[in-house]
Amino acid sequence: MTAQRKIILEEIENTRAHPAAHEVYEMVRRRLPRISLGTVYRNLEVLSEYGLIRRMDLGDGQYHYDGNTEEHYHVRCTECGRITDLFMDPVCDLEGTIARQTGYEIAGYRLDFFGLCPVCRRTRESENTAAPPVLGSRKSSEQGEENHEGGNQSG
Ligand SMILES: [Zn+2]
Ligand SMILES: [Zn+2]
Repeated sequence: MTAQRKIILEEIENTRAHPAAHEVYEMVRRRLPRISLGTVYRNLEVLSEYGLIRRMDLGDGQYHYDGNTEEHYHVRCTECGRITDLFMDPVCDLEGTIARQTGYEIAGYRLDFFGLCPVCRRTRESENTAAPPVLGSRKSSEQGEENHEGGNQSG
């Protein structure tokens, strides 16, 4: 394995952020300032072909790379794009069930979740409960009503 490829692999293994290719590029560039995006792409392809990293399509239009090649699921935030690992027992004999039902030899499957992450949920809740912006002209019309009886002047 080339030194470049090793560093790319290390960077992906050391993060749980499931970076996209351009994010891997930014990470690797700190250690290899002269590396090109194309080189990063090529190495990512090779590493996922070797099964050393996992390449995932989570439906947001770009591949993400995972250093954890163990079987696990993911949930992606539709607001900020954060991807969180989901460790739970694999769905009970899903492949066997489908193979029996369809006669296919199942080579694999994808099961991904998406929704709002805790941070974005909090942001959305605070936006919903926040008071509406105060309009500057509202108060003066209320005072206009009260001024109606204000003819108490001595003179
Ligand atoms: Zn989020
Ligand atoms: Zn993962």
